[in-house]
Amino acid sequence: MALTGIQILKMLPKKNCGECGIPTCLAFAMKVAAGQAEIEKCPYVSEEAKATIGEASAPPIRTIKLGAGSASFTTGGETCMFRHEKRFENPTGIAVLVSTDMAGADVDGRISRFKSLRYERVGVLMKAGLIAVKDADGDQGKFTALVKKVLDGAEDASLILMSSKAALLAEGAKVCGERKPLLYGATADNVAEMAAMAKEAACPLGIRGVSLDNTVELSEKLMADGLKDIILDTGARTMKAALEDNVASRRSAIKSKFKPLGFPTISFPCEMTDDPMMEAMIASVLIAKYSGIVVLSDLQGDILFPLLLEQLNIFTDPQRPMVVQEDVYSINGPAENSPVLITCNFSLTYFIVSGEIEGSKVPSWLLIKDTEGLSVLTAWAAGKFGADLIANFIKKSGILDKVKHRDLIIPGYLASIKGELEEELPEWTITIGPREAGHLPAFLKEWKPAA
Ligand code: SF4
Repeated sequence: MALTGIQILKMLPKKNCGECGIPTCLAFAMKVAAGQAEIEKCPYVSEEAKATIGEASAPPIRTIKLGAGSASFTTGGETCMFRHEKRFENPTGIAVLVSTDMAGADVDGRISRFKSLRYERVGVLMKAGLIAVKDADGDQGKFTALVKKVLDGAEDASLILMSSKAALLAEGAKVCGERKPLLYGATADNVAEMAAMAKEAACPLGIRGVSLDNTVELSEKLMADGLKDIILDTGARTMKAALEDNVASRRSAIKSKFKPLGFPTISFPCEMTDDPMMEAMIASVLIAKYSGIVVLSDLQGDILFPLLLEQLNIFTDPQRPMVVQEDVYSINGPAENSPVLITCNFSLTYFIVSGEIEGSKVPSWLLIKDTEGLSVLTAWAAGKFGADLIANFIKKSGILDKVKHRDLIIPGYLASIKGELEEELPEWTITIGPREAGHLPAFLKEWKPAA
């Protein structure tokens, strides 16, 4: 059962030394209880207390890490059923399948698309993160060669090695070295062998069950064997069954603290249909509902992009607006006679406004004022985008050295503060811009600095 901050405080050395990065033991204890700090950060806490607190404050779904460096991937660590209760922690990993029975050109194409299909949105790089390497016929040489090809060809991919033979997976794990792969999959027939192999390789092990009950049995066996890092596949190969199993697993882990299901899940839309659009739809359902990893048969931009956008939306923290940094942004190569616009630092506003300015091809300066991620009107209503704050920002932003004119374009929704701003910035002419970003291109093309 989770410990309260006060219970945790009783086990701390109470030096109030701040070496954990937090000024007092009480504040540190509160953060540990809230899952916002790790007990390991206190160098003075006893091993016994560390074990007790670590166990009690661990998320009900274990956090599991694969790979290393730029090829690292984290899954699990989830603490709630619904995003609005807190937040979802680690985005579902999107994997593409390559197999030893595929032609070399097919494998190359998948690796090439893995590397090239990358998108930047709201300052976030979105991409597939994993490649699943499947042994189709038990040939050790072919499997190892394919693992090497993926390691060399996709340097930032985390790997999933798939075989029913423990010996093949052991060899594949050796080839991966520091890029610790997920080894998949343990079944009722090979569970003891797989457990020993995964322990030796110090890699997470995936279960391939034939039902939810069977998956629980296998998970219990692996836990009894001392395995800590497990990933669950209940064997469901229809969307309905996979969805039901994911929901049942998450609910059992979160609500009932049922340890055998307290692990991330892996799903295989690639084995549920031959229709790429149906596969995308299945993947979208399983990203929304609790798969830690989804394995796709191939990567195509028109399928991957919407899945990545969905993943981005679901796994952003609903309690923390996405923001961009307060700064002066130059768009289309502005000069000293270019227009100067100002808006808030809510990232969606920034990307919409900057996109419209970019599209207009009018060289411009865009001032982004820190409004703590609030949109224009909300920030104004909350007292974070008032005339005095804007004036202070203008003075310290450096824009005075970049332009000769003194003409500031404010968002149309801030028309009511024009007079106040003119009082705060007497040298400036305040121009009211359009209310909608879509009208900016026409507005900017007509703009001339005030005489
Ligand atoms: S490092 Fe440990 S003893 Fe020092 S303030 Fe943090 S919790 Fe307290």
